[in-house]
Amino acid sequence: MTVSPQHDVIVVGAGLAGLRAARDLADAGRRVLVLEARDRVGGRGWTSTFPDTELQIEVGGGWFTDQQHLAREELGRYGIGVREVPPASSTRWYSNGALRLDAPFPADDTASAAAMDVITRDAEAMAAGTDDPRFFLSLNDYLDAIDAPTTVRDVVHGWWSITGGCDPAVGGVDALLYAMASEGPIGDMSYLRYAPESGWSALAEALAATDGIDVELGQPVSQVFHDEQTVSVRAAHAAFTAATVVMAVPVNALPDVRFTPSLEDRLEDAFGGNAGRAFKVWMLTRGVPEHALAFGKGDGLNWLYGDRASGDHTLTIGFGWPVDGFDPDDDAHLTRALLRFFPDAELLGHTTHDWISDAASLGTWVTGPAGQSHRLTAEAWAPTGRLVFATSDIAAEHAGWFEGALISGRDAARAVLTASTANTA
Ligand SMILES: Cc1cc2nc3c(=O)[nH]c(=O)nc-3n(C[C@H](O)[C@H](O)[C@H](O)COP(=O)(O)OP(=O)(O)OC[C@H]3O[C@@H](n4cnc5c(N)ncnc54)[C@H](O)[C@@H]3O)c2cc1C
Repeated sequence: MTVSPQHDVIVVGAGLAGLRAARDLADAGRRVLVLEARDRVGGRGWTSTFPDTELQIEVGGGWFTDQQHLAREELGRYGIGVREVPPASSTRWYSNGALRLDAPFPADDTASAAAMDVITRDAEAMAAGTDDPRFFLSLNDYLDAIDAPTTVRDVVHGWWSITGGCDPAVGGVDALLYAMASEGPIGDMSYLRYAPESGWSALAEALAATDGIDVELGQPVSQVFHDEQTVSVRAAHAAFTAATVVMAVPVNALPDVRFTPSLEDRLEDAFGGNAGRAFKVWMLTRGVPEHALAFGKGDGLNWLYGDRASGDHTLTIGFGWPVDGFDPDDDAHLTRALLRFFPDAELLGHTTHDWISDAASLGTWVTGPAGQSHRLTAEAWAPTGRLVFATSDIAAEHAGWFEGALISGRDAARAVLTASTANTA
């Protein structure tokens, strides 16, 4: 095994969580080695261009909110500008078998209005700390429990694409209620307010360039050996040893890493526990108004936004989750999905990345399976021995967002520094 005496800490994973931890540790004088499975840094943040154009796109995460101060601070630190995302210029819904341009349901549909009120009140109650068995149900079981009419189901399912982002029979309704309480009501996308001008990859690259950090790409870690003195990791092309390891990989990538000795049940039971299985598709379209928002019961895509117009083309973003008979990488399927909301539109091209089968993520942003969110918390993932965990999936705040990744990385670095101070005291 290659001993790596020149490094105090090994960080496994070069997403924003791992890189923030590495940067803080390097700033504190630690020599840090970052081992990254892919051939790029940034993880689920990946800035690219739409095929055959120079139009910049975020293949993974894109936006941040007014409450996400670390994201703004980090972008500012590296001189990366922030652009404001224009609010929706118009909204349309597909519900109860019809495309609606005025409101998600007719004004005299009191049953739908009452069900929406129940959901809003439940979001407030959950935020206030009320414990209700309903909050532990999957989204679909919850909608059954409140007798939601079809119209409400359809509208809620549309919004679920950017909140829960997975099969609504699996994901816990708490993901939707949490998003409503902390970000805004269903249909209000104004919280998706900002984006980095040169993209999230620019931030990842800036963090990785910190003095005192060595980054090795193409080094998936498959084994971790830990005892009271040291931790060793086996990567694709070498093995390395240091005093501490920060495991900054997505929770769904952890079942592929063998820990010796194995870890406590609280951790191993939670490995692979992110139900998030969204897809995000970028489509070059004609006939989608710039900044138009559409959501509801889609034909594969349940949430669409006309992100940017150039000439008579609009770069349109679609979100959905896997359903039988829909391939988010198939032009014919995407055309069908687009026409559901914009009957006069035309699909000119598309691009997407399959985060769900990508071995370095095996899912998208974090969503707990029904009743399981308590397994995906910073407390449940507290450090064990010389191993510290960091990822947005388990962040103490803003879990699932870039902000959560930065918070989790910051907290991991603090844990390493606190432990090393205690060891030398
Ligand atoms: C489609 C999509 C849309 C999203 N939209 C938004 C949004 O609008 N706003 C927002 O804030 N967030 C959004 N997110 C979530 C956001 O991208 C993530 O929360 C954040 O990027 C996670 O950072 P992380 O460092 O925790 O994990 P990651 O970015 O996944 O980083 C983990 C790193 O570990 C590496 N790795 C995995 N296994 C190994 C191994 N065995 N050995 C070595 N390295 C390994 C991976 O390659 C990766 O680089 C979205 C995510 C997706 C996928």
